[in-house]
Amino acid sequence: MFENLSDKLDRAFKVLKGQGSITEINVAETMKEIRKALLDADVNYKTAKTFTDDVRQKAMGENVLTTISPGQLLTKLMNDELTALMGGTTSELDLKASPTIILIAGLNGAGKTTFTGKLAHFLKTQKSKKPLLVADDVYRPAAIDQLEVLGQQIGIPVYANRESNDPVAIAKEGIAQAKQNGNNVVIIDTAGRLAIDEAMMVEIENVKAATNPHEILFVVDSMTGQDAVNTAKVFNDRLDFTGVVLTKLDGDTRGGAALSIKSVVNKPIKFIGTGEKMEALDVFHPDRMASRILGMGDVVSLVERAQQQFDEKQAAELQKKIRKNKFDFNDFYGQIQQIKKMGNMKDLVGMIPGVGKMMKDVEVGDDAFKGIEAIIQSMTAKEKENPDLINQSRRQRIAKGSGTDINEVNRLMKQFDDMRKVMKQMSNPAAMAQMMRRMP
Ligand code: GDP
Repeated sequence: MFENLSDKLDRAFKVLKGQGSITEINVAETMKEIRKALLDADVNYKTAKTFTDDVRQKAMGENVLTTISPGQLLTKLMNDELTALMGGTTSELDLKASPTIILIAGLNGAGKTTFTGKLAHFLKTQKSKKPLLVADDVYRPAAIDQLEVLGQQIGIPVYANRESNDPVAIAKEGIAQAKQNGNNVVIIDTAGRLAIDEAMMVEIENVKAATNPHEILFVVDSMTGQDAVNTAKVFNDRLDFTGVVLTKLDGDTRGGAALSIKSVVNKPIKFIGTGEKMEALDVFHPDRMASRILGMGDVVSLVERAQQQFDEKQAAELQKKIRKNKFDFNDFYGQIQQIKKMGNMKDLVGMIPGVGKMMKDVEVGDDAFKGIEAIIQSMTAKEKENPDLINQSRRQRIAKGSGTDINEVNRLMKQFDDMRKVMKQMSNPAAMAQMMRRMP
């Protein structure tokens, strides 16, 4: 996410690094580079110009404070300004009403239906809500099928009426059903088109008028850059939506849409989509995003993701096993699954300060654990429970079965042994204290 932009900003900062103070000349030069970086990231021209003018003015104004280096000062200024550019503060959904009606709009392929599923999953698991999804696309039966499949996958009911071709009526029927069944959120997935189209706009306006939604979320594909911003403007003029959802930020996007949308339509980005899985949805935090763009990492989000996947009961059981030195390959496999659920590996690595930049050329795919998983899966149930059983001949067999080689199996066995030793020590307060004392 935003690797190119981060890279270029980093290069622009180099002009100032090593310089003792901020001068008219070195700031002008840096700003030129920053503006170029923003334009390359497909940020709207006017936005980029206003942005760099603001930062330059502030940098010159703060010149008297020479206690920090110009590079540090500029990083801080950029962080503040990027945060402001993306909306300043986090904008939460208004979920007070029961049922809360949420209308989803956008062009075909933007990721509306996927987001509808993700949002329902998010509201159910993070906000303890009971959502109902409404399939309101009367043109594409496949869209109804898609929503029903997602609903089943995440355990959330879907209202559809394949007999009707009236989106207003279907939306109202959906809301009535929600009231009857005690669903406190209704998410209406509307029909899109390939491009802006008058009939589509009128249709959504009618659904809006008939349902009085509390939130209207406009979903847009961040890969489309400036087009995303233009489409947002047209939708906003007609619908006066309450927030934007930027999808596909996990892809090769240049990031321009995230940086320009707020200043063009003056509506907050509320969520970002970072993958095809139902868990790949993040609440948008302007400050955290700014610090990621500047290569400063995002530890807060990383910890939150870990907490979301954290299962207290499971953790307590694991603790017990560790204390008894019973941690086995089943537990190890379970831990890997938990890490994988935290999301796209490259994305996670990018949240660690300083590491994102270092690792940008290293391929950390979602299959980072594939080899390890294959090895564990090739063990018998007995071996998984009693790792000490795994002698040389068993290792040969496991290597063959998993399509890896004996060295890989040996390496995993060694890592597993080391890990068990450390875990055992950590679960023993006396040993832990001794270890700490030995530290420099
Ligand atoms: P709709 O026509 O607007 O309903 O779009 P869909 O929800 O059907 O999504 C279109 C395609 O984009 C599908 O293949 C989705 O899996 C994919 N997609 C949606 N959101 C994301 C995302 O955040 N990241 C990635 N990589 N793919 C996404």
